[in-house]
Amino acid sequence: MHRGSCLCGSITYRIEGDLGPVAFCHCSRCRKANGSAFLAAAQVTPEALNLHDRDGSLRSFESSPGVLRYFCGTCASPLYSRRQGTPDILRLRIGTLDTPLPVKPQMQIFYADKAGWYDCASDIPTHDQRPT
Ligand SMILES: [Zn+2]
Ligand SMILES: [Zn+2]
Repeated sequence: MHRGSCLCGSITYRIEGDLGPVAFCHCSRCRKANGSAFLAAAQVTPEALNLHDRDGSLRSFESSPGVLRYFCGTCASPLYSRRQGTPDILRLRIGTLDTPLPVKPQMQIFYADKAGWYDCASDIPTHDQRPT
């Protein structure tokens, strides 16, 4: 089991079972949504994510058609995203985990779009887009 929370603590969650594949996304939308060099996310199913929204803070933003990014409306922590085309996959923002991540990131996607100022020195495989 894994646990996580937003920065202000009004949204907490538990993940039942294992986390799915972990990817770093370097696309410009993820960079803007996180204000950072890239997004780190693990795939989980909607059934596995038990989210507790103490103050009704959960908000979403449709960053491109059919792609909803969920975040805390109080502290702005990004929490997960969901695509209408793949409703059984949530992409959990693993920077919000409070428990250790037991797996290594598997891939870096949209690497062709990465921030020019970010000098990535890692052996995590890279893909110019999202592999199918
Ligand atoms: Zn919050
Ligand atoms: Zn992205």
